[in-house]
Amino acid sequence: MKWSWKVARVAGIDVQIHTTFFLLIIWLGISYWLVDRSLASTANGILYILALFLCVLLHEFGHALVARRYGIQTKGITLLPIGGVAQLERMPEDPK
Ligand SMILES: [Zn+2]
Repeated sequence: MKWSWKVARVAGIDVQIHTTFFLLIIWLGISYWLVDRSLASTANGILYILALFLCVLLHEFGHALVARRYGIQTKGITLLPIGGVAQLERMPEDPK
């Protein structure tokens, strides 16, 4: 995906982070900082969001690995501020 940075390759699948995801982290960092100007609470807030997106990443790997089980490869997984996207090579002809 355009404007994405490859950060890892797991099980043969590229993991990418879209540039706007970094903007989300910066925005949240500033927001947490403005609440009480505490570095600890800012770090906790950012870590919470990163843990949340780790769950999103695991969810997308669920899509990718099930697709692989049915013979469909995944080009990559991209994390965006609104969630994640597993880019399958194609959609199955039989949705079941
Ligand atoms: Zn899903």
